Amino acid sequence: MIFLLSILHLFSTSVHAVPVNVHISDLVQLPEYSTKAFSLSASPIVELDLSDEELSSFARKLHSTRNRCGGFVAGETHAPVVQKNLNDQIPQSLLRQPEVLALLPEAQEANLKEFILWFSSFKTRNYSTDSGVHAMVELADRWRALTKNVPHAEVTLYQHADWRQPSVIVKFKGESADEIIIGGHGDSINTDSGDPEAHAPGADDNAAGIGVITEIVRILADKNYRPKSTLTFMAYAAEEVGLRGYMEIAADYRAKGIPVKGVLQFDGTNYKGSQDLGLILIEDLVDPRLNTFLEKLIGTYLKLPFAYDSCGYACSDHYSWTYHGFSSAFPFESRIKEENPHIHTARDLLSVSRDNAYHAVPFVRLGLAYMLEMDQ
Ligand SMILES: [Zn+2]
Repeated sequence: MIFLLSILHLFSTSVHAVPVNVHISDLVQLPEYSTKAFSLSASPIVELDLSDEELSSFARKLHSTRNRCGGFVAGETHAPVVQKNLNDQIPQSLLRQPEVLALLPEAQEANLKEFILWFSSFKTRNYSTDSGVHAMVELADRWRALTKNVPHAEVTLYQHADWRQPSVIVKFKGESADEIIIGGHGDSINTDSGDPEAHAPGADDNAAGIGVITEIVRILADKNYRPKSTLTFMAYAAEEVGLRGYMEIAADYRAKGIPVKGVLQFDGTNYKGSQDLGLILIEDLVDPRLNTFLEKLIGTYLKLPFAYDSCGYACSDHYSWTYHGFSSAFPFESRIKEENPHIHTARDLLSVSRDNAYHAVPFVRLGLAYMLEMDQ
């Protein structure tokens, strides 16, 4: 198999075509690509095949014309899976209040700030660059250091077939193989330039999301938390170029039949664009039952004003899990129209959030409450 694979890979890498699904309303903004498109029956989603090089410039043009994170899906060609049997996995009531309340004060703004400054200090975390590979490898080292005294925790690098940047996964193994997942993308992009090496600090998009995940991992590791289910945390590669990293991982989970109780997404957690709100719950392309559960967690543990909003397209990683029939939800930093205007540029720095990470702290608490209450 390995030999056959390398020939196929050799052939595919030279003329490697990546299938891309994009909404017709976006494609009409990029007429130079419309000749490549063919539609999937009556659906507004059209497909086109692009080479790796075309993919990067397509991502850049779509980001700059539509000012969107994600916005198209690369790699997958079949129709989304209809969601099924989801509500039996989500608890109806909150049974772990004393334990959750004991953990919430552990969330430290100083740790979040330090992490965001560190992760955004890489020149770029673009998926096709050495710097982008290093950032994820060093993130894995950080997660290993945080969990070194937790015998049931394991950190792995998930190597992808078609590009070098790995995704990073840490699991707190439980008594059962059922997984409860929190994830976010680790890569960054600068769409002001066609050069993948261009400065892309991505402090809010998405060092802030990975910072939230890292602080949750630190707190559970410090408590040597022993779960019933398996708690899984992921930093995905290659989100900015078509949601590619976790599309591959979610497809893998489905193919292996790994039971997943729910997936929570963190992508953009530290820009307080909506002054009247602590956070937003994205309502489209997610599992509404998981949103109802999050509402309970917010009401009981965060006591923050929140609202619903919709992206209107596949705006982040939660989509891949929904796409593959898993239950996912996406709490976000602000209303979509009030989101951070500096994402995907060299200006996405912590200074945009007044050099602090206070807006991200409640996301740590929400993640802790979600993990413990889902782990009933
Ligand atoms: Zn993002």
